[in-house]
Amino acid sequence: MSNERAKRGLNIFIDPHRCVGNAACAWAAPGIYVLDEETRVAVLENEDSASVEQLFAGARACPTKAIIVTQFGRRVYPTILPPMFGDGLNSTTDAVEPSTTES
Ligand code: SF4
Repeated sequence: MSNERAKRGLNIFIDPHRCVGNAACAWAAPGIYVLDEETRVAVLENEDSASVEQLFAGARACPTKAIIVTQFGRRVYPTILPPMFGDGLNSTTDAVEPSTTES
């Protein structure tokens, strides 16, 4: 299968809130995933010339699952997206008060 055919519908999203900037993706797929010098967040470069293997190698190397691969709008990697510490918690509005049960 040609690279273009295999890549059809593939989309890579790097979640800046999950990226801890350890460059594991850049080691796994050099020249494809690189760290932005200012933000220290991974960005995708040369996506057009990247192979499917390189795209997935970077995603699999990411310890925080910051690289999300979708195909035709459906997430194909990671299959399970674990919550990050503080996900969904807005300190002022979402804080959970301990429940009090009166009997
Ligand atoms: S491996 Fe993940 S956490 Fe590390 S720089 Fe790449 S995207 Fe960010």
